[in-house]
Amino acid sequence: MKKYLVLVLSLFFAAAHAFPQSRNCVPGQSYWGAQHYVEYVAGDLPIIISVPHGGSLKPELVADRTFGVNVKDNGTQEIAREMIAEFKARTGKYPHVIFSHLARKKLDVNREEFEGAQDNPPALAAWNEYHGFIDSASAAVVNIFGRGFLVDLHGQNNPEERIEIGYRLENDDLMMSDGDLNLKASVEKSTLKNLMKYSPLSHAELIRGSNSLGALFDRRSVPSTPSPSQPSPGSYKFFSGGYTVGRHTVDDTSAVFGVQFELNTELRRSARSHSTAVMLVTVIIDYLTIHWGPDFWNK
Ligand SMILES: [Zn+2]
Repeated sequence: MKKYLVLVLSLFFAAAHAFPQSRNCVPGQSYWGAQHYVEYVAGDLPIIISVPHGGSLKPELVADRTFGVNVKDNGTQEIAREMIAEFKARTGKYPHVIFSHLARKKLDVNREEFEGAQDNPPALAAWNEYHGFIDSASAAVVNIFGRGFLVDLHGQNNPEERIEIGYRLENDDLMMSDGDLNLKASVEKSTLKNLMKYSPLSHAELIRGSNSLGALFDRRSVPSTPSPSQPSPGSYKFFSGGYTVGRHTVDDTSAVFGVQFELNTELRRSARSHSTAVMLVTVIIDYLTIHWGPDFWNK
């Protein structure tokens, strides 16, 4: 009964606001969910960037979460806004970007709905808007380009200063041989599963070979794992990819592939947000050019 009431109340919060569909939006403009808890910057590139943990709003209307992690990913919203400008400068087009503006104490959109919104109607409405915007952007991208690339952008404070690249492969998976990484069981849970449909490369090559994201970071002397220089994370805590990349990329019916980027503290210092954004955009464009083709954004 309580679940039903929560659902009805969350629909009430969301219904007060007309939900814009990506295909009707103007690239580069912001569209908002109810109460301005969720922002969608419309795009026309086949790239979707989600920013779940950079928000700081703590409205009284939304009760505090009583369990789970509450740490803010400082600097990720600023880096994402710099990335929008850099993509525009490099390609003439905009990525689709979805921000949660609520503090994580109020909502965690990178968890399934119960842990994320904890039966709190306005939080659940915002949770649904956030994933609805990603769904809508994904549908628009796939409709135009046939496939899409999702980046879920985070920050971590692990002592090892490196970018942790989350493909939904855990430490144990990444400790395996390339042969085992190429088995169906590994591919089936990977966020690159939908890229495998188009790529002549093996799964292991895509994860840590010479054309992997980690290789592109290596070339810029930015430490990352998995990569040719650090094929597995070792014994440090490692973020392998959470709810968002799981929901929106590990799906047979989807044509979206993607990754979770966990940026280390140094890369997120405010004085570095511009250079970090330029580096990330360069890596993403290089990566999609290799695996998709030059001028992939004009297809
Ligand atoms: Zn995070």
